[in-house]
Amino acid sequence: MKLVLIVVDGMTPATFERAVESGRAPALAFLAEHGSYRRATSVFPSLTPVCLSSIATGAGPDVHHIPHLVWWHRAERRFVEYGSSFAALRAAGMAQSIADTIYNMNQRHLGAEAVTVYESLEDAGLVTAAVNMTCYRGGTRYLPTLRWVTRPAYGPKRFFFYSLFESDQTGAPLAVRDRAGGSIDAYAAAVGRWLVTRDGFDFLVYYLSDFDYASHAHGPGGAEDVALARTDAAIQALLDAAGGPDEFLERYAVVLHSDHGQTDVQRVAQLESPLAEFAGSVLVAASNRAGQLYLLPGARVDAAQLAARLDGEPAVEVTLRREDGVAVARRQGEELRFRPAGAGWETSGDRAVLDFPDGLARAWSALANPNAGELLVSAAEGWELADMGGRHHAGGGSHGSLVAGDSLVPLVTIGLDASPERITDVAPAVLSHFGVAPPPYAHAR
Ligand SMILES: [Zn+2]
Repeated sequence: MKLVLIVVDGMTPATFERAVESGRAPALAFLAEHGSYRRATSVFPSLTPVCLSSIATGAGPDVHHIPHLVWWHRAERRFVEYGSSFAALRAAGMAQSIADTIYNMNQRHLGAEAVTVYESLEDAGLVTAAVNMTCYRGGTRYLPTLRWVTRPAYGPKRFFFYSLFESDQTGAPLAVRDRAGGSIDAYAAAVGRWLVTRDGFDFLVYYLSDFDYASHAHGPGGAEDVALARTDAAIQALLDAAGGPDEFLERYAVVLHSDHGQTDVQRVAQLESPLAEFAGSVLVAASNRAGQLYLLPGARVDAAQLAARLDGEPAVEVTLRREDGVAVARRQGEELRFRPAGAGWETSGDRAVLDFPDGLARAWSALANPNAGELLVSAAEGWELADMGGRHHAGGGSHGSLVAGDSLVPLVTIGLDASPERITDVAPAVLSHFGVAPPPYAHAR
């Protein structure tokens, strides 16, 4: 049976569960009623480029190498910014940031060892489709719809990316005309309707981003009034295109989940401020509720000293670093040292330091990413770290940290044998649904 993967950006389990109970989201309620539901776990940092790369490859950041929304490219000695905010894109250089977001994330930054679900399935002779999914690497060459841009992208056989790359003419309205008004999901819905009407794929990834956008602006609770109905309508469009919800499920197995949660944020910190004395030794890459510190060559400070310096900073809940092949998590002076041992972990110190969903595995995978900073920061509840442009979402919602609210996601499966517990379990479940072996990643855990 064919399969549709629906990813709703930033929807928390609580929102999903309320939406289903209240009857405010008939499409979500229909899918929940016909499937099996669980709360699953995201990756760290729980930020969209990291999460969507994990969903599409079935690997953590240790394998796919996308570390954050913003990171220091050591070989090129420059910041990479995938779109924390308009001001952050401008601070990192607008043309470079656009190239990084649209092209380089997939062509250069995504790890060579990582295999996308499109690559695996198309190698097996299946047709895959992706709508607006930021991790899209595949084998088919596409020129942008803008005639003055000549650099190609390489995606799945059916590929639709914010009106910029389109494998087929669908008549969908322009994606970017009114972001706050929901035009990106309206574009996705038009393309999705076109694809389902033609039954034009074996596997479809249908990515809806507008809920997260509303949740940043209004908080996870407020987004339910602003965007939930629109998100549900974009899913209903797929069901309708099949001739109705029952007909949809006769044709497709379904996985529906979000990439990360969101939590309310009231306060904002500049991660640079407590580190002013180390300027010249340390670079700060921060955005939303996670940060990374990069040590420059010849730095007069090490990661352990930086971690100690951040003790007592109210915005910082936990820092992570590596020392001689061991990971060290530090919270207000308490440390937990850990490393993989067999199927579990060898630890010393206070396990409570990493008392977060799947805390040890997510922390280890984030640290094992060669593009990660020497010290990683997970923000405390209610706090956000200002981005390179000084922007934040205080008064609204955000995500990125290890805390449960940022990390847990709703996940529904219909017609699938597997029961994914983490977002990295989704791609292997999809592959096994089609009888295709998952890539043999050497798991860092
Ligand atoms: Zn977000």
